[in-house]
Amino acid sequence: GAAAGPAGSLLARRQANIGAASVLFYREPIEMVSARGCWMEAADGRRYLDFYNNVPSVGHAHPHVVEAIARQVSVLNIHTRYLNRWTEDYLDRLKATLPAALSNVVLTCTGSEANDLAMRIATEATGGQGFVVTEAAYHGNTLAVTGISPSALKRGALPTTVETVPAPGSAAYGNDVAGGFRAAVEGAVQRLAGRGVAPAALICDSIFSSDGVFADPPGFLAPAAQAIRAAGGLFIADEVQPGFARTGAAFWGFARHAVTPDIVTMGKPMANGYPMGGVAASPDLVARFCETVGYFNTFGGNPVAAAAGLAVLDVMEAEGLQENARVVGVHVLDRLRALSAQDPRITGVRGAGLFIGVDLCRPGDPGQPDPELTTTVINGLRDRCVLIGAAGRYGHTLKVRPPLCLTREEGDLFVDALADTLASQPPA
Ligand code: PMP
Repeated sequence: GAAAGPAGSLLARRQANIGAASVLFYREPIEMVSARGCWMEAADGRRYLDFYNNVPSVGHAHPHVVEAIARQVSVLNIHTRYLNRWTEDYLDRLKATLPAALSNVVLTCTGSEANDLAMRIATEATGGQGFVVTEAAYHGNTLAVTGISPSALKRGALPTTVETVPAPGSAAYGNDVAGGFRAAVEGAVQRLAGRGVAPAALICDSIFSSDGVFADPPGFLAPAAQAIRAAGGLFIADEVQPGFARTGAAFWGFARHAVTPDIVTMGKPMANGYPMGGVAASPDLVARFCETVGYFNTFGGNPVAAAAGLAVLDVMEAEGLQENARVVGVHVLDRLRALSAQDPRITGVRGAGLFIGVDLCRPGDPGQPDPELTTTVINGLRDRCVLIGAAGRYGHTLKVRPPLCLTREEGDLFVDALADTLASQPPA
């Protein structure tokens, strides 16, 4: 129709072009025109504070990253079957952040590709086909990875090779998060065995972002990793969300748990918006996979991706972003806890560094998850020029995830806007 032509509204054009696959935020979608640091500028002339950030982690349009990409694209950008020095320079720098045993890194373009490859490596290494994941996990969008992403499922069932366990930190485990999570993983392995399926891996996002952000107590992942190994499977840490210093405490989320994964996957913030992902594993695992299958990725870790990735590591170091995430994260967490002490609808505030979850409930004993209030708050924050999203099995957890260069003052702007939004929505 007429609205679908170039003269139609952007929203109508998008819906005509992408159809049912178009997914947008907000009751009133926003047209973005530019961004810098923690701020995005919209076509309505307003500036929005970005608290839904898991890609441009060192800040939007960071000049050092922009310059590195522009320089490299003007010199050399090729597929991955020639030698080039930028990719090796990047991998040497990246590997310095990883456990020494994981000394092979295969670069991809997305987190989904990285997890798909990790699944194939684990299947090849163990002879098992089974995967254990948390019940609201998201690991990506390929056919295989969608099968281990319960949160992406709108109807139907997971494959019979997949078993789920409650996320650590959910009420299911009481005070013994580590022991409860280990027992749940053992139970999942038994259910798989009951169907004749041997485990290939337990795969966890080590900050459990789509499950609702569960960070504590540090160390809770280690017993579960032992349990999957005792059953013949591998432990895969999906670091797409917690990696690259997001948690403030460490460069990698698994490091907070004092566990060395068999495989680490990564993506999103790796190149600040230039598509880049990767899989780190031991040379033995990579060699065994390549004996039977082999791997080629046309764009993965090309010289421009490598230059962008290097620039990101430069900025993180030069600007002390891990320490900033830790310090500003504590400040935001403290202010959110103070707010929750005054408002019974805030029933949980938790997180690590600049990744914080805030549960919103209908007051009661116990409070009931309130996804409607959460949606109202997200739209209320949008009206106050703060961009944020939701997570969790019941969709009632605010996902607080700003760029790592956030200042305390910007953190205060968010908490003040949240307080104002909640005040404008008095409990029914
Ligand atoms: N793993 C996790 C934990 C993620 O959050 C995502 C993306 N939201 C992915 C994997 C997939 O990454 P990508 O969208 O780059 O394929």
